[in-house]
Amino acid sequence: MLTAAITRTELATWLAQGLAGGLVVLLLTARWWRKVYLRRKKRRERAAPRIRCDNCGYDLSGQELPRCPECGALRGFRVPLNELGLTEQEIREGVERMKQTRAARDAAESPPDATPRT
Ligand SMILES: [Zn+2]
Repeated sequence: MLTAAITRTELATWLAQGLAGGLVVLLLTARWWRKVYLRRKKRRERAAPRIRCDNCGYDLSGQELPRCPECGALRGFRVPLNELGLTEQEIREGVERMKQTRAARDAAESPPDATPRT
């Protein structure tokens, strides 16, 4: 009878210690994982900073036009297109002109024979 009681107490102690140890390991792992996650997130954001809408904060990365699909504001402006008096067609034409100008400038800046001869 006494032996059984001691065994039960020992079992309870062993279980409690096991649970406490498991909890400590779990907490340390969670803490380590959070640190790794935050470090990776920071690195990712540094590599490719997100472009956000000035008006509503919507993520504009990957958008074809510099216009927020959420609130309609142009990038760099806090008002929607119609308040600026511009149509989507005019914005598209502007973006196209900008691309052409940039391509022409890049072509003019880089020497025609930039590749090294072998
Ligand atoms: Zn917006």
